[in-house]
Amino acid sequence: MRISTDREACVGSGACVFHARGVFDQHADGRVLLLVEEPDEALRAAALTAAANCPVNAISVNDV
Ligand code: SF4
Repeated sequence: MRISTDREACVGSGACVFHARGVFDQHADGRVLLLVEEPDEALRAAALTAAANCPVNAISVNDV
């Protein structure tokens, strides 16, 4: 899987960090910081949950 984030759309809710701390963090301005662009299978479910819970759909997940 490959993840991308839209920092312009991000409102800094932190939901992605809550659901997938190993994949996402937040910059000092609160906006999303993508730590792992291609998470392994162990992080897959958490990454999908994070994407589903982003209030502004700023996280895209593509299976490659
Ligand atoms: S869940 Fe969405 S809006 Fe919230 S910090 Fe993550 S990317 Fe930004």
